[in-house]
Amino acid sequence: MTTVGILGGGQLARMMALSGAPLGLRFLVLDTVGDACAGQFAPMVVGDYTDQSALAEFAARVDVATFDFENVPAESAQWLTARVPVFPNPRALATAQDRLAEKTLFREQGIPVPPFAAIDTREQLQAAVAEIGTPCILKTRRLGYDGKGQFRIKSPDDVDAAWGALGAQAAKVGLILEGFVAFQRELSVIAVRGRDGEFRAWPLTENWHVDGVLSASLAPAQVDDALRDTALAHARRLAEALDYVGVFALELFCRDGELLANEMAPRVHNSGHWTIEGSETSQFQNHLRAVLGMPLGDTRMVGHACMLNWLGEMPDPEPVLREAGGHWHDYGKAPREGRKVGHATLRADSRQELAEALRRIGDALDRRAQVAPVIERLG
Ligand code: ATP
Ligand code: MG
Ligand code: MG
Repeated sequence: MTTVGILGGGQLARMMALSGAPLGLRFLVLDTVGDACAGQFAPMVVGDYTDQSALAEFAARVDVATFDFENVPAESAQWLTARVPVFPNPRALATAQDRLAEKTLFREQGIPVPPFAAIDTREQLQAAVAEIGTPCILKTRRLGYDGKGQFRIKSPDDVDAAWGALGAQAAKVGLILEGFVAFQRELSVIAVRGRDGEFRAWPLTENWHVDGVLSASLAPAQVDDALRDTALAHARRLAEALDYVGVFALELFCRDGELLANEMAPRVHNSGHWTIEGSETSQFQNHLRAVLGMPLGDTRMVGHACMLNWLGEMPDPEPVLREAGGHWHDYGKAPREGRKVGHATLRADSRQELAEALRRIGDALDRRAQVAPVIERLG
């Protein structure tokens, strides 16, 4: 019996455990809190990610370790590698945890990025805003997620406000200034690389964010083959440069037919949740197959799929459950403002059927604004 250890017990760990059950896998989750949502399906070790006794207990009980939480300290991941195989490797994790290291690697690999600069002081911020121009975004280098730790600078007059909001973080987690990309679309590549180097990617996904948080995803993205091939080539180059093993996401902005890389996530990703019902093999199962050295599953998709995120509290499930291609995911979390508590995936054989299902869901749940951009794209 193989036991997979997962650092972090959120919904990603939970969906990973669910997808691994048919493979006969056991799971053990490490989280800082005892009521993490994956704990409903897998035993847990509760402890700090830097707590060596918790890490030692975890390592002793698992055959391989992986992540649900991308901000596990890279030193902890490194410590674990002496005791148990860890995928993705700690170097890949460390690179993806730091926006400066990540963007530097993108550029080294020939993957275009928006202009960026490391910021340590208010004077550097002022100079970088003048150099990069406005609008631009000041971000924490580390620990940001769901658009947290970001300040949008619309004009040079906003420098003081930006420094007031994030300046104290400069010494703790570092800051980076990025040019604001007036993109027409946001896309993500969800891809997997095996222990033997085999690379596979799912069809490209288009994503819509509201206030920096993912709201909806559509696959396949309606883009031409050349753009898709470029996006997949970027993802492949990145995975090879990092000797990456497992599933990852590469977030891209598409502006006037050009792709600019935003960030990578060294784990299964919210914009890949549609693969559970929308593709031959889900991102969760392929991640497990990759880290265990098993054959990777086919990533081809079945029809068209749209994922809708539920933030704050779960809506009424009935309208989705009534749809032929409707799939419901309730993470079993307590409601909290802005918190990701669940999602739905709608799958259909044609674009038109998917648009019709989304229209019915948007009307029934009074979420017309959430489905509107996807319906417009399905045109
Ligand atoms: P997550 O990890 O949850 O995807 P995050 O906190 O790491 O989010 P980003 O992905 O950097 O944050 O930013 C969140 C969203 O804000 C992006 O998906 C995009 O919509 C917008 N955004 C971020 N950076 C830029 C940029 N340079 N230009 C334009 N929009 C941006
Ligand atoms: Mg991120
Ligand atoms: Mg992002």
